[in-house]
Amino acid sequence: MVLKNAFLLKDADSGIQKLDLKIENGKISEIGKIEEDGIDLSGKLVMPAFYNTHTHAAMSMMRGISDDDTFDVWLFKKVLPLEEKLDEEMVYYGTMLSMMEMASKGIAGFIDMYFFLDEVAKAAEEFGMRALITRGLVDENGDDNGRLQKNLDFAKRWNGKGLIKAGFGPHAPYSCSMGYLRKIADIAKVENLPVHLHLYEAEWERDEYDFREILDVFKYVKLIAAHAVQFKEDEIRELARENIFVSHNPSSNLKLGNGVARVAEMIEKGVNVALGTDGAASNNSLDIWHEMRLAALLQKMRNPANLKVSQAIKMATEMGAKAMGINAGKIEAGMEADLIVVNIDKPHYLPIEDLKSHIVHAGSSGDVFATMVAGKWIYHDGKFPTIDEREVLKGFKRAHTRLMGS
Ligand SMILES: [Zn+2]
Repeated sequence: MVLKNAFLLKDADSGIQKLDLKIENGKISEIGKIEEDGIDLSGKLVMPAFYNTHTHAAMSMMRGISDDDTFDVWLFKKVLPLEEKLDEEMVYYGTMLSMMEMASKGIAGFIDMYFFLDEVAKAAEEFGMRALITRGLVDENGDDNGRLQKNLDFAKRWNGKGLIKAGFGPHAPYSCSMGYLRKIADIAKVENLPVHLHLYEAEWERDEYDFREILDVFKYVKLIAAHAVQFKEDEIRELARENIFVSHNPSSNLKLGNGVARVAEMIEKGVNVALGTDGAASNNSLDIWHEMRLAALLQKMRNPANLKVSQAIKMATEMGAKAMGINAGKIEAGMEADLIVVNIDKPHYLPIEDLKSHIVHAGSSGDVFATMVAGKWIYHDGKFPTIDEREVLKGFKRAHTRLMGS
């Protein structure tokens, strides 16, 4: 496939150029002036796709159920009782619906924490979206009702199958015992799989455990730490480790009243920071484009020099790909062909000289024309070529009615 005549943003640090692009076997094979017939993308911008590094995709089943509650009420009174009722079909359609939303907003892959993992993987496989799938793990005095074993069995079945990757998902240090976290860390190390957990999201978590102890437990595994809102300035340095990725979820953190993570300081101190939306029950949209701008604005509240355009784009693209463990996030020969086509033939993309700034500060996910994953369109001009859209919407509504009625 050859994409022609588009403006091209190769990566977060580059300027925008007019170059053609060739894609072979799911990878980018050539960039430059290509003398072959291809798809004409005049008036459009091609750039690396986004990655959503923290979500619970099936929670689209609960979008809007608890908009004005505290974090505790939201989690313990609203979300957890409904999650007790979820079954395979609900998780399958919830995940499918979320992937439709994400694909239409330029997202090529997501890091998930949930349960009924085979349904999540099956949905992602059918859709053609990348997914790093982890099971939410909790225990009571070491008893986890077989959850960790299920997570491990899933990883053995699915890790590396197509675009699917697996990891472990200890929910949070306050819902897992220290012995259990150590056990998860040991298995993750042996299996060489990442760990995905919520860390220092709410302020009261600071009284429950010491983050240093947690970082120490996961010293030898890749750790995707969602939120990291409550880190104080002098503690941030301890997150700057090659194996740690912070998933910054600004909308969810604001909506649940948890605050604003010190992202500008994190980036300055060399912490790997990527972006996430969290689930649709706390955001309520799965829109990395939106998170990118919000992240930039929140850091500028303290200093307008914070979080420059290129840093914001890098969190959404390159850092997301690194957190997921894939060779993408930039448009370079040899890299995975995960990209988005943006319709820039709109007033808010002028003047064209500052196009890169408009991506962060003027554009929105509504401008996404197409999303490609590993060389295949998963969203194109309002359509979802890999799935039966009507069947998914019908299935979602049917499953949702059962969830609320049961
Ligand atoms: Zn979460």
